[in-house]
Amino acid sequence: MTSLPRRLGDDERAEIHAVVSGLTLDQKCALTAGRDMWSTNAIPEAGIPAWRTTDGPSGARGTMLGPAGVRALCMPSGSALAATWDVDLVREVGAALGRETRARGARILLGPTVNIQRSPLNGRTFECFSEDPCLAGAVSTAYVQGVQAEGVIATVKHYAGNEAEFERNSINSIIDERSLRELYLAPFEAAVKQGGTLGIMTAYNRLNGTFCADHRWLIADVLRDEWGFEGITISDWWALATTDTAAVAGLDLEMPGPARAMGPALAAAIRCGSVQEAAVDAIVTRLLTAMTMIDARADASDSPERPFDMPADVALARRAAAEAMVLVRNQGALLPLVAADLKRIAILGPNAGRAQIMGGGSATLRAQHLTSPLDAFEAATASLGIEIAHAAGCPPTDDFAVLEASELRTPTGEPGLQVSFHAGRSLLSPVLAEHRADRAELTFMGSPADGVPPEGFALRARGQYLPVADGRHRFRLSTNAAAHLTIAGAAPVALAWGDDDAPRRMREAEFEIDARAGSPIDIDLEFAGESALNFCQVTLKCLPPSGDDALVEAEALAAAADVALVVVGTGPAIESEGFDRSSHGLPGRQDELVRRIVAANPRTIVIVNSGSPVAMPWIDTVPAVLQCWFGGQEMAPALTDVVLGSAEPGGRAPISFPHRIEHSPSFGNFPGGAGEVRYGEGLLVGYRWYEARDLPVAVPFGHGLGYTRFSWRARLQRDRIAAGDTLTVIVDVTNVGDRRGADVVQVYVAPPPSPLPRAPKELRGFAKLILDAGETRTVEIALDARAFAYWHPGDEATESIQQRLTATPFAAPDTAVRRRRGWAIEAGDHIIHVARSSADIVQSLTVMVDGALDGIAP
Ligand code: BGC
Repeated sequence: MTSLPRRLGDDERAEIHAVVSGLTLDQKCALTAGRDMWSTNAIPEAGIPAWRTTDGPSGARGTMLGPAGVRALCMPSGSALAATWDVDLVREVGAALGRETRARGARILLGPTVNIQRSPLNGRTFECFSEDPCLAGAVSTAYVQGVQAEGVIATVKHYAGNEAEFERNSINSIIDERSLRELYLAPFEAAVKQGGTLGIMTAYNRLNGTFCADHRWLIADVLRDEWGFEGITISDWWALATTDTAAVAGLDLEMPGPARAMGPALAAAIRCGSVQEAAVDAIVTRLLTAMTMIDARADASDSPERPFDMPADVALARRAAAEAMVLVRNQGALLPLVAADLKRIAILGPNAGRAQIMGGGSATLRAQHLTSPLDAFEAATASLGIEIAHAAGCPPTDDFAVLEASELRTPTGEPGLQVSFHAGRSLLSPVLAEHRADRAELTFMGSPADGVPPEGFALRARGQYLPVADGRHRFRLSTNAAAHLTIAGAAPVALAWGDDDAPRRMREAEFEIDARAGSPIDIDLEFAGESALNFCQVTLKCLPPSGDDALVEAEALAAAADVALVVVGTGPAIESEGFDRSSHGLPGRQDELVRRIVAANPRTIVIVNSGSPVAMPWIDTVPAVLQCWFGGQEMAPALTDVVLGSAEPGGRAPISFPHRIEHSPSFGNFPGGAGEVRYGEGLLVGYRWYEARDLPVAVPFGHGLGYTRFSWRARLQRDRIAAGDTLTVIVDVTNVGDRRGADVVQVYVAPPPSPLPRAPKELRGFAKLILDAGETRTVEIALDARAFAYWHPGDEATESIQQRLTATPFAAPDTAVRRRRGWAIEAGDHIIHVARSSADIVQSLTVMVDGALDGIAP
């Protein structure tokens, strides 16, 4: 079997050329925009099918966002995948996602998200890989290779400067070229050059004044001319508004359809001469070339979306979740627990009984199953004679939170709500489909359910809410369409369509009821929406009373247990596309819960279930802390593997965890204001900043403990190289402990004195190893020219300044430091740090770089 993507021969290129030449202008332009929310246009007469896209990035959701979506495999989110530092594993994950995409009848997966984790507060930090471009680039490359080998185009997003959700559709990200080149563009560059990605999604925002979908420098100059990208560029959803500028910049596909800026508008622009026909020929050629490379030309349009329960892929998701978990602290080797020594475990915390496995927004999908840590520990300990005691201790937040599956029961006793769909915005019309919703957040884009017209539909969601506290519960209903809610014990509430009748603006209504723990409350929600051209949504949130009783109950259970596990964290209501986090702290009373539990039982393990760093003000008082991220649908089973010791916590932090958000690099420049966000910290992102500013962090970049010990011996292949040469770092790694375990060798390069400021050191290579007790392996980490280079913006005015100064008594500028624009390497000693984290250097070696290079082409 040929491996995909294929290289095309001359015959195939000629065939594509012939097809393009045979299409009319209108047919060609039709291919530049989507047909509907998720598919491209078909030209059946020319044998071109409609190709389907699907989000991405931690699964392949398919076309339906709401409860009718096909159950899909949910892999760990971006930050978790990067925390594995295991490119082979990520390649396997990518391949599983490629297979899932095919099962959804799609050929384009909208992921991975490779934006740099500039702030822990970005709503999508959970979706992104890392604060470091080397790690993010390597993980992106592996992900893309895995996906595309299954005949699916990966769409690396969001290009570029989309590092926050604040005003994302209009904000102007102001980033100097050097920071762009060295940090923000680097993961995209790796995905293109090493990963061979065939898809790039442009971002919503403006970059240095120009919308990314229209950005000629970004698309035509850098992506295509410099990096040699041959695939297709896709606009983020509704991000495209111009015809001529976008076509000239090199944007290929406007999504979703029907077309606004491309399609017929492009045909009109070509007819009136403002755009050359060659532009659309190039677009269609690129589209057909990419589709031929993944063998998708003979696809049928609109294939059915199938579930795809592959036990091997589910097992892979479990392995990946464990390999991602970062053991932050483990005093007295409290972990792994020895089952034989345990009679009772207390599983506490608001995330113990909830499956918080993914973040919110377009990355959401209907996972194959929702398993909470509590469910998983009950299952894992059932045969071991260990008793499990559980209490949440406090609500997940002190704000309103969407009702989750664990708090809801359908009329037939399953977790969630039962939803029936009707046509034409009327519940009087017959039921067309019935599904179970996992949460009381129903979002629709495109078709709400098979056979239900997206132009107008109604639904009824029924079930019960299961209160866990006594007292006043506040509820909030919100929608951008029309909703009517009846909830036992309260007067009905209704929200009508907005004044303009357009499903856009969110409206809310609040009400309160008295509830008793354990006494279910009936919910009957009616909703009418339309999701053909936009998204519509209805959510039901609750703010339960938060007295001390729950904390006291949790303390008592902790005190009576051999060990207490406290599962704290966030969830899709806190970390989501669409908004940024308002605080770095754990929401609600979770910090207080941790402090009280550790006081009640010194054998306390805190499990942090969040997609991005949270503050851990209690870190020094808790013996064991395990960061488990949004670990995907197998996160909870993997957690039992790690806690009970059948798996290693293989993760290392892909992002630094600051003690205080005020210490973080972008503080003061995040999220921006007055229409712009200035990346004022420049190059000093993540550990580069904390080290340069000598600021302590709670968890350093790259940190993570294991259950065994390793010894290292590192050497350089040579101690002197010419600028531009590759240097190999050779490290013998021995597992000197008594069990199998994982280790990550990290190589950082510290530069010699340079004319421009440089970060103290930068990650330039790494390797993950899993070794048996006593085993030794030698790894070779290659540092190529770029590992020693930095971007020099040059100074185009140098010559004219020299001329000007010759007529003055002032000295001419030193041309030696006014280099040409491009990558530059300094001559001199570079220190190669072989390290366990950015803060834990094991060995430092020196290489002398002879000669300097400047103006190296990208
Ligand atoms: C997101 C993209 C996503 C697209 C389609 C946008 O809002 O930014 O990441 O792929 O929607 O759902």
